[in-house]
Amino acid sequence: MNIKICKWYNNADSPVLLMVDDLANVWVDTSGNGKVGLGEDWGYDKNNKNSSYRYLNEVILKSYPNIKTTFFVPLGPRVGMIENSNIKFISKRIDCDEQTKSFFRQINDSPKYEIAYHGTTHGKVGKTTSDFIQEWELYQSLDQAIESINKGKKIYKEVFDGYPKGGKYCGYKGGKYGDESIDQTGFLWWNRYFNKDMGTASKCDIGKDFNPLTNFDIKIFGKNNVIDIPATVYGGMFNGCVHLNINTIKGIAKSILKPWLINKKYKELQYLLNNKLVISIQEHISPARNDSRRQKPNIFDDKESLHMIFEYLKDKNVWYCTGTELAEYYFIRNNIRIIKKNKQFEIEVMYDKKIQNKNITIKISNTSAEAIILPNGIRMKGNKNVYNIPIIDGVYTII
Ligand SMILES: [Zn+2]
Repeated sequence: MNIKICKWYNNADSPVLLMVDDLANVWVDTSGNGKVGLGEDWGYDKNNKNSSYRYLNEVILKSYPNIKTTFFVPLGPRVGMIENSNIKFISKRIDCDEQTKSFFRQINDSPKYEIAYHGTTHGKVGKTTSDFIQEWELYQSLDQAIESINKGKKIYKEVFDGYPKGGKYCGYKGGKYGDESIDQTGFLWWNRYFNKDMGTASKCDIGKDFNPLTNFDIKIFGKNNVIDIPATVYGGMFNGCVHLNINTIKGIAKSILKPWLINKKYKELQYLLNNKLVISIQEHISPARNDSRRQKPNIFDDKESLHMIFEYLKDKNVWYCTGTELAEYYFIRNNIRIIKKNKQFEIEVMYDKKIQNKNITIKISNTSAEAIILPNGIRMKGNKNVYNIPIIDGVYTII
């Protein structure tokens, strides 16, 4: 008999996370009519009829109740994209009034959602879009970065009654002091990279050192082993196959090749599943910007693409989780040891960190075992020798 700790919860092939960036207390009145139009708000319109948050729930996620979403929220006031824009842009902090606070708090309180840290202002605007400097790139010293994060964490605590467990650099730019500032401010996990999809990843920043088996998996960094969850899937990955302009030669060619193009994209998802890698789908809550461009990817333009991804994953062996659930499982599996003695075992815990979800999945092989009796006497049945068990002091018995 052999007991193995599974790579992911429930012995899944891949963890699946939807990552939605820039939910914030922002409204960009792109139509200029003084009313919130579809796709214009980033969270400012809360759960009202035309709000982006409602669109996410009603249009994108409605048929997929198992999908969990991690929002990356700039606590505000989030800056625009350029200075002196003619487009009306309203931006406030998420703790500006009780109603706003409770809107963000109820999102984080839902087991389906998590609100992660994404800076305060997101950066500094300039004359043109390319002059924009991302928040972590603005820091001139480690002290300055830490001071700013601590200020942000205070706002977060005021709204959510606890500190953020994870987060992401604005624009994936950590600057000179990013990693050390995260390492020193108590985060369990962070999202440092967007590896996009197979086709583009090898051409992006990571360049020739790119190796999908490591770049699409979890890594750690810093003295405190911060868990680095990459973003691995572009939410609009199918747009090139479904949004075709058949009035152009390229569009006609693509429509002929459509089944082949779609299949190629499915293979990218299948690659992640086959290799037990992370499927973290990157999106933004709104396309609206005050520089007249569209923010990409966004849940409005990528509706069909997201549905194709979710539909594909529906019957696969995946684990839908939030960033913190994923990080905690990774942390636990690397910081426990199973001590086996005949048909019994104990779990040695080698950490003193506060972990919320203390569960682990094990697979018992070469056995006709039917169940496990937990140290507290509860009998637990497995599924094909796979058991999701809580970590408790004492002796587990396999029967
Ligand atoms: Zn952002």
